[in-house]
Amino acid sequence: MSTVIAEGVIHVTNDCKACDHCTSICPTGAISGMLGQKHHIDPRLCVNCGQCLINCPFGAISDASSVEMVRQALNDSTKIVVVQEAPAVRVALGEEFGLAPGTNVKNKMYAALRKLGFDRVYDTEFTADLTIMEEGTELIHRVFNALGVEGFESSGPLPQFTSCCPAWIKYAEDKYPHILPHISSAKSPQQMFGPVAKTYGAMKLNVDPEDMIVVSVMPCTAKKYECDRPEMIASGFKDVDYVITTRELAEMIKADGIDFLNLADEDADKFIGLSTGAATIFGATGGVMEAALRTAYEILSEEKLDKVEFEAVRGLAPVREATVEIPVKALGTKLPVHVCVVTGLKYVDSVIEDVLAGRSTYHFIEVMNCPGGCINGGGQPIRRDTY
Ligand code: SF4
Ligand code: SF4
Ligand code: SF4
Repeated sequence: MSTVIAEGVIHVTNDCKACDHCTSICPTGAISGMLGQKHHIDPRLCVNCGQCLINCPFGAISDASSVEMVRQALNDSTKIVVVQEAPAVRVALGEEFGLAPGTNVKNKMYAALRKLGFDRVYDTEFTADLTIMEEGTELIHRVFNALGVEGFESSGPLPQFTSCCPAWIKYAEDKYPHILPHISSAKSPQQMFGPVAKTYGAMKLNVDPEDMIVVSVMPCTAKKYECDRPEMIASGFKDVDYVITTRELAEMIKADGIDFLNLADEDADKFIGLSTGAATIFGATGGVMEAALRTAYEILSEEKLDKVEFEAVRGLAPVREATVEIPVKALGTKLPVHVCVVTGLKYVDSVIEDVLAGRSTYHFIEVMNCPGGCINGGGQPIRRDTY
């Protein structure tokens, strides 16, 4: 087990002013300390989400950094360093350079990554497409198996929970191990990208995967924990070597004196830099659910989905539910799919307890730790002006 997991990603520094604000933010009760005393984080309870970090009024909470290791890899001529960036990064990075929140700087980001020395600039949206296909297909199998439709083996009980938020996964493992068979077996987009890059990508580039370093740029501090999980070695190597946050990418760009705002737009590299664009909504709460439902809709109805929007799963309420009617061509009927979206671990306990007690009527439940989804993740720019 890695040092990062054993010690946790998030730490309270000696700058702590003991104001106690973070204890009201933490969704898991991992922070302890009396008013007037330096606070502490229990790594066994902490899910590494970084919400305390971005909400500490005194900047007294920090996250473990791999920036120096990334710099060393970029300076090592024997290594091919490839990078992926999550959808929520491109709409937040510009804030660090004075642009309005939400400005999409995707093409300047690609250009900046090349200037920093990355050999190949890919995009997590490629593997977010794979996650959507896996989760949507797995849901179809679970629903059809429960209905007794022939040819659909059980891949787990209903409801199916999403699996792409590592903070949610650690929370479930720590507090509700009996819920684990309900969680999708699909890896997160970040962790699908690693083995794809070190197998298919390495083959296409004619590179020994041992000489490939995979770096992720994420809106999320929990992704640092996720990439260090000991089982994440599907390629035969550590699938994702290092994770840096949106904030850390901005620091690297500034440290190198790159004139970010005046960079000419560039595109991602081909093969695993392309995507359908469906995964762009992954960064907002309800986005994973909506993308997976769209996949299930197209597979089951055997129709191309041009216009149908699943607006019922959008919004910012911490728990939202909806029923989506999906036409199933093979059965000649419409299937009502009951879905639930939870944003914030503080709100998931009652949803889980209903499932474990057999009271839940949902088929599919999305859980994301951060309020509003990854767009407000613990690795995003900190808006100190709000204090
Ligand atoms: S919010 Fe920051 S300053 Fe206040 S107790 Fe927590 S770590 Fe310390
Ligand atoms: S990182 Fe998240 S879980 Fe850990 S102490 Fe901070 S708010 Fe709590
Ligand atoms: S909601 Fe997104 S940013 Fe927040 S912990 Fe989960 S994966 Fe990370």
